[in-house]
Amino acid sequence: LEPAYAFMIRTRTPGGVVSPAQWLKLDAVATTFAERGLRITTRQAFQFHGVIKGRLKPTMQAINAALIDTLAACGDVNRNIVVAANPHLSRAHAFVHDQAAALSTHLLPNTRAYYEIWLDEERVAGSGEEEEAIYGASYLPRKFKIGFAIPPHNDVDVFAQDLGFIAIVQDGRVAGYNVTVGGGMGATHGDPETYPRLGDIIGFITPDQVTAVAEAVVTTQRDWGNRDVRKRARLKYTIDDHGLAKFREEVARRARVGFGAPRSFEFVHNGDRFGWTQGEDGRWHLTLRIVAGRIWDRDGLTHLSGLREIARHLDADGGAAQFRMTPNQNLVIANITDAQRGAIDALVAHHGLDGHRAASPLRLNAIACVALPTCGLAMAEAERYLPDLVGRVESLLATHGLLDQPINLRISGCPNGCSRPYLGEIALVGKAPGRYNLMLGADHRGQRLNTLYRENIDEATILAALDDLLAAFAHGRQRGEHFGDFLVRAGVVAAGRPIALELVA
Ligand code: SF4
Repeated sequence: LEPAYAFMIRTRTPGGVVSPAQWLKLDAVATTFAERGLRITTRQAFQFHGVIKGRLKPTMQAINAALIDTLAACGDVNRNIVVAANPHLSRAHAFVHDQAAALSTHLLPNTRAYYEIWLDEERVAGSGEEEEAIYGASYLPRKFKIGFAIPPHNDVDVFAQDLGFIAIVQDGRVAGYNVTVGGGMGATHGDPETYPRLGDIIGFITPDQVTAVAEAVVTTQRDWGNRDVRKRARLKYTIDDHGLAKFREEVARRARVGFGAPRSFEFVHNGDRFGWTQGEDGRWHLTLRIVAGRIWDRDGLTHLSGLREIARHLDADGGAAQFRMTPNQNLVIANITDAQRGAIDALVAHHGLDGHRAASPLRLNAIACVALPTCGLAMAEAERYLPDLVGRVESLLATHGLLDQPINLRISGCPNGCSRPYLGEIALVGKAPGRYNLMLGADHRGQRLNTLYRENIDEATILAALDDLLAAFAHGRQRGEHFGDFLVRAGVVAAGRPIALELVA
């Protein structure tokens, strides 16, 4: 007998878009092979938790039958590319999504191992015939993350990505992108050599230059990245070790592009917009709040069943409907016609998927990583703790008359930062069971990191600290001022590193 190993499987779904037919197949995978329903990640992918070892292969094959793969969803390669999940679906949005999907394909490793091991396409190991023109023999020093944002919404947290593209839209068309490099959230407790970092803007490129620039950034990281110290292997450290100017010059040389001066842009927030919105072609998009991205039928919820019914309805109806995962773990039912809205609304209400209607802004925007019980790196609770914590912070907000304040709250079970906690106005980063570092003072647009306020404290101490700070905010805030900005202005915390905008014209 061997131990009952259980695995997590993550999909590659660039931009987080699946059809109703694909949704139904993924739902079947979740109910047949996994234990905890469907889980939307902060990279617009699905995770299936608790897949036991003996069922890995049929699970992978069932995912593949949905025309979705898991290739490069983990490992030291380019991961799932995140793309603005803009419910105001526009031609520009479709263009950016298509460009991101093409880049995702371009950056796939050439290995046949995935097909050989999981899909029975014969030879296993030792073919020696595959050439990895981009990744080389040893792949990248570390994982690599790319995001495409469309201002004014920074739902992908583009400055948290190793490589980011900020779309510059003029007259409804994508004129090009500002390129960012060197973002990353991960850190290690007690190791000052590791830190979260926001990306730097290195210039403007046209859409036809995206592939060459992305490949040049990836290959420069492949060749310059730190392969001796894994904790220092992400692109952000490569840039800090070699200098931004030198890195930019090398990327321009490899890509054979001349970077233009960055173009002006403005982000207004890094959250999602909930409820119905209408796109420029008249179709409708409904953003639903999914708490911590978890979709299951448990604890009195029927969210998995409800979305299955919606997917069946839309699949039978034909048309262009889609499900779009957001990088904030929520779900958009997109491309809905006037005639379809009534049925969708009824199913959403029947299955309690309309939590966004009554939730506070704090609850709507809160993000948590998976953490315990399924993440082996977790030091503290995150997803399972989120509802309780939000309720307690809401009580404080109510006491101070602040329940309508849009405050970003994020929890991670460890400093790896899968929930992008260093961009939370309030963030808890797990230290030990029941204990967290309290980080404060990010902005609400994903353009300034938070900083450490109290280290290794329990819930009572966290709530007491927040109680005092919210009281001060209620009395001392300026008109329209956000909580994170107030904390910095009031000197409660030092401003974390903001993005550099000096070059932007
Ligand atoms: Fe696991 Fe840490 Fe990522 Fe949370 S932040 S999912 S605990 S690795």
